[in-house]
Amino acid sequence: MYLKSVELTGFKSFGKKTRLEFTSPIASIVGPNGSGKSNVAEAFRFVLGEQSMKSLRSRKGEDLIWGGSPALPRQNRAAVTVTFDNTSRFLDLDFPDVIVERVVHRDGQNEYRLNGSLVRLKDVIRLLAGANIGGSGYHIISQGQADYILNAPARERREMVEDALGLKLYQHKKAESERKLEETAQNIEKTRSLRRELAPHLKFLGSQVEKIEKAREMKDELSAKLVEYLTREHAWVTQEHVRLTDEIHVVDAEVRELEGVLQKVRTLKSPEVNADATKLARLEELQRELSGARRRREEIVRELGRAEGAMEAVAITVEHVVPAPHVREFMHDIDDSLERALEADHETLRGLIDTLRGRIRAFVDGLKGAAPVTNEEVRRDVERLTENLKHAESEEVRLSGELEALRTDLTTAREVRFSAEREEVEARSKLREAQTRLISLRGDRERISSARQRFEEEVREGIALVGSAIAGWDRNSIPEGALSEDRREQEKRRREIERLKIKIEEAGIGGGDAIVREYEETRKRDEFLAKELNDLEASSESLRSIIRELEITIDERFEDGLKKINEALGGFFAKLFGGGDAKLYIEEPRTGKRSEDDEEVVEEEELYAGLSISVSLPRKKIRGLEVLSGGERALTSIALIFAMTQVNPPPFLILDETDAALDEANSKRYADMIRELGKQSQLIVITHNRATMAAAGELYGVTMDHSGVSQILSVKLEEATKVAK
Ligand code: ATP
Repeated sequence: MYLKSVELTGFKSFGKKTRLEFTSPIASIVGPNGSGKSNVAEAFRFVLGEQSMKSLRSRKGEDLIWGGSPALPRQNRAAVTVTFDNTSRFLDLDFPDVIVERVVHRDGQNEYRLNGSLVRLKDVIRLLAGANIGGSGYHIISQGQADYILNAPARERREMVEDALGLKLYQHKKAESERKLEETAQNIEKTRSLRRELAPHLKFLGSQVEKIEKAREMKDELSAKLVEYLTREHAWVTQEHVRLTDEIHVVDAEVRELEGVLQKVRTLKSPEVNADATKLARLEELQRELSGARRRREEIVRELGRAEGAMEAVAITVEHVVPAPHVREFMHDIDDSLERALEADHETLRGLIDTLRGRIRAFVDGLKGAAPVTNEEVRRDVERLTENLKHAESEEVRLSGELEALRTDLTTAREVRFSAEREEVEARSKLREAQTRLISLRGDRERISSARQRFEEEVREGIALVGSAIAGWDRNSIPEGALSEDRREQEKRRREIERLKIKIEEAGIGGGDAIVREYEETRKRDEFLAKELNDLEASSESLRSIIRELEITIDERFEDGLKKINEALGGFFAKLFGGGDAKLYIEEPRTGKRSEDDEEVVEEEELYAGLSISVSLPRKKIRGLEVLSGGERALTSIALIFAMTQVNPPPFLILDETDAALDEANSKRYADMIRELGKQSQLIVITHNRATMAAAGELYGVTMDHSGVSQILSVKLEEATKVAK
C-alpha cells in the first residue's frame, strides 16, 4: 500500500476540497456518467507531472480549474495533493510520508511541492521514476485508452514497455550522461579553441622570453666581465698614477738638484776668472822681479869680483882711461834700472834708486882716478858686497819660491775650473735628460688621468647598463696579474665588453619583466586549459563508458524483461481467450533513404527498433491486430497491460473503465485478474462493472449535485457487494 490519499481542491469538477483515503489494496470508484470519476484519475496524472493537456482532456491549464457554477464561484487555482506511505522508503526521500502537490493557476503557471517545499517538475519526475512510477502513464489507463497500447506506434509501445520495466531511470541517466557528454564535447571544443587562440601569443611570448633570458645571460656575462675589467683597470690606473706621481717627484727633485749643481758650478767659475787675471799679472811681475834680482845678484857678483881683485892688487894704479865697453855696460844698467823703476812700486823703487846711486858712484870713482883705495876700504867693499850678495840671493830665492807657489796655485785653479766645467757639462746633460723624462712622465700622468676619467665614465655606464650588480665591487682588490699583465689584455676585455653591449642592444628587449610576467601568466593559463582539457577528455571518456554500461544494462534488462513480459502476456492472453498466444517482438531496425538519389542515409530514428505485437487466437487463423473485434482488442490490451505490470510491478495502477467493453464472462475473468494484480500493486479501478466492484476492498461513490460539484461518498463494502449484486 503506497497510496494513502489524494486531495482535490478546485480541480475540474471538484469545486470543493475533496479527499479520498485509500485503505484497501483495491479501491473502486463508481458513480453515474459525468459525475467526475475520470477527473479523479486525471487528478493522479496531473499531480504526478503530466504535461500533455490532451491527456488531461483540456486545452490549457485554466481548463483544469473549477470553472464555477451559480452555486459555487469559480476558483483561481486547482490543486491536487497525493500522499504516499513511504515507510518502506520506496521513494528516495527520508520521510515516512511523502506528499506531492501540484497547483495550477489561471495564468497557466504551475507549482510543485514535495512535503511542502517548492521544487522543480524534474525533481518530482526523478523522485517518481526512482520508484518505477514512470511518465509514459502505462500505470494510469484512462477511459477509452485501454487499447491505446495496441494502437500506439511501435516506438511508443517500446517506450511504454521500457517504462514498465523500470528502464526509464537508466534511460534518464543515459540521456543525462549524453547531455553531459555533449556539454563536455562543447567545452572541449571551447577549451581547444581557447588554446588555439592562445598558442601563437604564447609562442611569441616564449620566443621573447628566450631572448630576454639570453639577454639576461649576456648581461650577467657583461656584469662579470665588467667587474673584472673595472677591478683590473682601477688597480692599474691607481697604481700607474701613484707610480708616475712618485717618479715625477723623484725626477723633479733630480732636476732641482741638477739646477742647484749648475748654479753652484756657475758661481764657482766666475770669480775664479778675475782671480786668475790678478794672479797672472802678479806672475809676470814676479818674473820681472826675479830677473831683476838675478841681474842685481850678477852685478854684485861682478862688483864683488872687482872688489876682490882690487883687494889683491892694492898698489895697482887705477887706469885713468875708462874703456868704452865699460861705459856701454854702465849705460845699459842705468837704462834697465830706469825702465823697471817706471813700473816698480814704492819699495822696489827705493832699492832701484839705491842700486843706481851705487852704480853711478862707482863709475864716477873710476872716472876721477882718485887715490887708490886702501885695503881697508876694499875689504869693507868686499864685505858689503858679500852682504849684498847674500840679500840678493835670498831675494831671488824668495821670489822664485813665490813664483813657484803662484804657478802651482794657478795650475790648481785651472784644474778646478776645468773640473767645474766638466761638471757643468755633465750636469747640463743630465738636466736635459731629466727634464725630458719629466715632460714624458707628466704626459704619461696626463694620459693616466684621462684613463681614470674614462674609467669613471665606464663605471657609470656599467651601472646604468647592468645595475647595481657591478656597483659593489671591491675597489681595493687587486686581481692577479692586474699590475703586471700586458695592457693589450685589458684592451681585449674592453673590446669584448663593447661587443656584448652591442649584442644586448641588438637584442632590444625593453620591459623584460613585464613580458616574462605575461609569459608566465599565459603559460599558466595554457597549462590550466591543458589540464582542463585532460579532465574534460577524461570525463568525456568516463561518460562514454557510463553510457556504454547503461546501454548494456538497458539492453540486458530490456531483453530479459521482454522475455518475462511475453511469458506473462501469453498466460493472460490464454486465460482471457481460453487459449491462443500473443507476443511482443522487436522490429528489425529499418534503414531508409532520404531522397531518391543513390546516396544512402541511415536515419537515426529508424535505428531505434520499436515493439510490435503478434497474436494468435485459439481456433482462428488470425494473426494481425487489424482483424480483431473491439472486445478482442480490449482483451488483448488488458492482457498486455497486466503482463507489463508483472516484471516490475508499479506501486499502484489506475484503470479507468478498462473493462467497459467486456462481456459478462470476460468481466469475471477481468475481476479475477484484478484480484491477482492487487497482490502486487495497489489498484484504483473506475468501473461500472459489478464483477470488478466486487473485487475491490473499498468503494467510493462519486456524485454530482445540482450545482455541478463532484462529491465523494465512501460506500461500505457490504453495501458495495449489495450494489454489485
Ligand atoms: P462517465 O461515467 O460518463 O465516464 P465520469 O464520471 O467519468 O463520467 P467525468 O468525465 O469525470 O465524468 O466528469 C465530467 C464532468 O466534469 C463534466 O460534467 C464536466 O462538465 C465536469 N467538468 C470538467 N471540467 C470542469 C471544470 N473545469 N469545472 C467544472 N466542471 C468541470
